[in-house]
Amino acid sequence: MNTKIVLDENRIPKQWYNIIPDMPGPLAPVISPRTLQPVTPDEMLAIFPMSLIEQEMSTQRWIDIPDEVREIYKLWRPSPLFRAHRLEKALGTPARIYYKYEGGSPAGSHKPNTAIPQAYYNKQAGTKRIATETGAGQWGSSMALACQIYGLECTVYMVKVSFGQKPYRKSMMQLWGAEVLASPSDRTNAGRSILAKDPNSNGSLGIAISEAVEDAATRSDTCYALGSVLNHVCLHQTIIGLEAKEQLAMAGDYPDVVIGCHGGGSNFAGIGFPFAADKASGRDVRIVAMEPTSCPTLTKGVYAFDYGDTAQMAPISKMFTLGHDFMPPGIHAGGLRYHGSSPLVSQLVHAGVVEARAVPQIACFEAAVQFARSEGIIPAPESSHAIRGAIDEALLAREEGKERVILFNLSGHGHVDMAAYDAYFSGQLEDYEYPEAAIAESLKHLPKVSL
Ligand SMILES: *Cc1c(COP(=O)(O)O)cnc(C)c1O
Repeated sequence: MNTKIVLDENRIPKQWYNIIPDMPGPLAPVISPRTLQPVTPDEMLAIFPMSLIEQEMSTQRWIDIPDEVREIYKLWRPSPLFRAHRLEKALGTPARIYYKYEGGSPAGSHKPNTAIPQAYYNKQAGTKRIATETGAGQWGSSMALACQIYGLECTVYMVKVSFGQKPYRKSMMQLWGAEVLASPSDRTNAGRSILAKDPNSNGSLGIAISEAVEDAATRSDTCYALGSVLNHVCLHQTIIGLEAKEQLAMAGDYPDVVIGCHGGGSNFAGIGFPFAADKASGRDVRIVAMEPTSCPTLTKGVYAFDYGDTAQMAPISKMFTLGHDFMPPGIHAGGLRYHGSSPLVSQLVHAGVVEARAVPQIACFEAAVQFARSEGIIPAPESSHAIRGAIDEALLAREEGKERVILFNLSGHGHVDMAAYDAYFSGQLEDYEYPEAAIAESLKHLPKVSL
């Protein structure tokens, strides 16, 4: 039995899987934050190329991956599927554990799977420049890479506190030719008005989104790009699950449970949606999204219309949300801090197709360390939530004395996140209680959409 199950380059999928035609019921409309009415294509065209807007709403089940994109995907795809022999042994479990490893991309995570096609479609549409935001820098570095490959300029508004604390991802973006600005910046009205009130503002993802959207909306040569949440982002990521299915078939296996960590939902959608398709046609497979207890969007949020960002500039979607002004507790080390969730993932959770579980961060770091000590790879703190989920399933299988096939997505490596491991080993990490009061407060501020 092999440890790595690898596909040849010519077996990179030729199409992405679009789950929209297989959703349990119609999609809720996306609402304009200005009019509180459904967004018009014109509003979207100010910041996205037509081809991506079409993908966002497409009802076609299979969407061709352009050859030029498959060519770039070859730099790291097909990604390997690993059988976790050594982890299984360490756990003494009868379960068979497989993981799909997305950390081999140049940026070290799954994010280039969508950054590359987004840059490609922008280039095709004549876009000269991309404006985007980044928190810790994973998305900004992936977009910088993609823009470098397709000869686009790239400006990244990086949350100021991360700009100072995470200099290595800033350097990665600069290495790939991007301009990186600490947000709030003096480049936009949104940034200047924050700085006027508070010159020492640390910034936030919401402010950075507002700056990037304003930049794109006010320049005709510039479009905006988002690294998660949106339907077309989930679509591009399905290449993960499609490859995994082929690889599992080569190993003669099929999963009982498929697990991914969940921030905005893109890597989870990537591993999960192709299996959700099987489930829709009657196959028995559980699909589980793992999130942090400190930002429990799917397990403690409400399914309602809410703004995509704190500044109420981004469109309003029906999704699980903790409220757009929810601030997760300060030093949570594992990312996954978005207040909302992909509308597609949310609808699947609401319909009971997908399960969600929240886990505290120390238990995630314990799982990450156990994984690294048996399998070698140092996981991204985000990915450790999926590992926790997989180990718990394997331990349950041991208790029940049952075989079980577990597949999880290892969304990225943690080489640029060693400060979080440092905090863990020096005992500085703590678990947060479920922030009930903060969530109750922010849920009072949902927009009043009447449709
Ligand atoms: C960005 C990121 C995530 C979370 O984003 P999703 O859209 O929920 O996938 C998870 N893992 C890694 C390694 C990331 O970089």
